[in-house]
Amino acid sequence: MSEARDHRQIARDQELFHFQEEAPGMVFWHARGLQLYQALESVARALLRAQEYQEVRSPQLMRQPIWEASGHWQHFAEGMFKLQEDDGRGLALRPVNCPGHAQLYRSALRSYRELPLRLAEFGVVHRKEPSGALQGLFRLRQFMQDDGHIFCRPEQVAAELSAFCQALRELYRAFGFAELSVGLSLRPAQRIGSGAQWDSAEQQLAAAAAALGVPVLEQPGEGAFYGPKLEFKLRDRQGRVWQCGTIQLDFAMPERFELEYVDADGQRRRPVMLHRALYGSVERFLGVLLEHYEGRLPAWLAPEQARVLALGPAQLEHARALCSALRRAGLRALVDSSEERLGGRIARARQLQVPFLLVIGAREARDGSASIRALAGPQREPREPCSFEQAVARVAEACQPPPFIAGLPG
Ligand SMILES: [Zn+2]
Repeated sequence: MSEARDHRQIARDQELFHFQEEAPGMVFWHARGLQLYQALESVARALLRAQEYQEVRSPQLMRQPIWEASGHWQHFAEGMFKLQEDDGRGLALRPVNCPGHAQLYRSALRSYRELPLRLAEFGVVHRKEPSGALQGLFRLRQFMQDDGHIFCRPEQVAAELSAFCQALRELYRAFGFAELSVGLSLRPAQRIGSGAQWDSAEQQLAAAAAALGVPVLEQPGEGAFYGPKLEFKLRDRQGRVWQCGTIQLDFAMPERFELEYVDADGQRRRPVMLHRALYGSVERFLGVLLEHYEGRLPAWLAPEQARVLALGPAQLEHARALCSALRRAGLRALVDSSEERLGGRIARARQLQVPFLLVIGAREARDGSASIRALAGPQREPREPCSFEQAVARVAEACQPPPFIAGLPG
């Protein structure tokens, strides 16, 4: 086990993001960092497609009555950034996305045939964390949740829990976190809902967790007042445990927002609401990944997967053509057109943790070839120049995501 390198230092070395005191707890994403961020988003989006979610977007600011109905105005007042309209009416920047999704659910009369209705949003949220508590990407005032809510009939809960939990286990393994555990947060002293509701909800969560074949830790009293929860914890290479994904049952919000569906017998009933997130905070998950890999991300995740290097101005056109071919193959590639000497440029690419360097000198330009250099790990790639086509195929193969992710719908 090694000491973790701070993700803020890694970000400086690799030009991923920075912070400024003028925007405490908020991130200035540089282009390279945003590439990585978007790579995480697209993995989650592919999984949403596979599981038949509808991606939606709801407002960033909503008026006080919505937050009163959700209970946040009363119980989460300290954590919210509140504003006022000219006429004095209160507004708040959302600290969670759930009330917005409840509005989307309510926008039509729902039939039992539409359920489960799965809504997902990459939702930016704001929370007024005390400035002393802020800690890089791990604790922010503005971050994005890969959030989602499932509205279903009570008898559909077990299948929804199981589908979410199984996929999340595979996802974390694909990201290189082999050691997982699950916390089962049980009923607290202060709660709403009947004993029978809690018994059934806790049993269903316990069954979904047990089916994963990973350690399950019961956390008595740690559930929210409105429902029990599963918390996914992953262990990083430094032995630290991070709680990331969650799935939570909610008896309260469907009541508070009067959500209904028309059942097969024509009766109106309340749906069950499940809150779920794969990463939790996308920023925090990214910080965990950077420290887990000490900045040396697997090639499939690298913000810049290949850099094409022209040895002189005469080779620039060839370098650009190769870079275009790499991009057409779906790879994140750039041309290095600087006039620095080769050694310095290789050192620079190494500092940025670019996994592959493709060098084009006079000979390569004449033959339409490129020399591949793998910057990370042992030199496995042949140094002999190969054709553009072969170079693209080799880099693309080395940048293939793990099978679980590669198998998701694009
Ligand atoms: Zn929610």
